[in-house]
Amino acid sequence: MTELRYLPDADEVTDFRATVTEATNEYVLLDGTYFYPEGGGQPGDRGTLSWDGGSAEVTGVRKDHGDVRHSIELTDGEPPAEGTVIEARIDGGRRDRLSRMHTAQHVVSRVVLDRYGASTAGNQVGPERSRIDFEPASFDASDLEAIEDIANETIERDLAVKKENRPRATVESNVDEGRALLDLIPDSVDPLRVVEIEGFDMCPCGGTHVSRLGEIGRIEIVDRSSKGNETERLEFELWDR
Ligand SMILES: [Zn+2]
Repeated sequence: MTELRYLPDADEVTDFRATVTEATNEYVLLDGTYFYPEGGGQPGDRGTLSWDGGSAEVTGVRKDHGDVRHSIELTDGEPPAEGTVIEARIDGGRRDRLSRMHTAQHVVSRVVLDRYGASTAGNQVGPERSRIDFEPASFDASDLEAIEDIANETIERDLAVKKENRPRATVESNVDEGRALLDLIPDSVDPLRVVEIEGFDMCPCGGTHVSRLGEIGRIEIVDRSSKGNETERLEFELWDR
């Protein structure tokens, strides 16, 4: 089992040490990691691992039966032996963009739920561009402008973003319909890690997030498309202020 050390609220750690539990030419398993493994609509982190006598590029990070598998390309030496202490560095610029994007996704999802009653059916954040699928929804140009304006006004309020573990029962009774696909989270997951934007939104989420909305920058909705009958896909990018 790899300990997920970025949970519940260490999303800002990008440099750390950990101990190798298994390693080959293709992957490294650690006793604990701050690398985010792909999932929940967020890609895995990238970065580097180094140890006495070797180093590697981390090219992908995935969950694998309770472990986190860091896919590697060796850049120097041989794979580390079990028990080796490695120095890890997450690509901080990329992580920062993904955290800003993911919190921005929560803001847009909440704005659309409040204004149009549409739930988030799926989402995929990326370092450059992100998308959210809403249903039921059918937006026109003025809707897109309204969503963008309200989202940006919300970001300007610079609300605090709290990340913490809460008992599943509490989350189930407090989360708004349309903001959580609780059926998709196995019953055994308790407590749940929640992301709460002060006085604005709360939902269970294991992704990485900023600590204040002001860090996001400015959202620009750059595309909309219909994905079937009542599903609308919005795509957005971020700009620095
Ligand atoms: Zn999320």
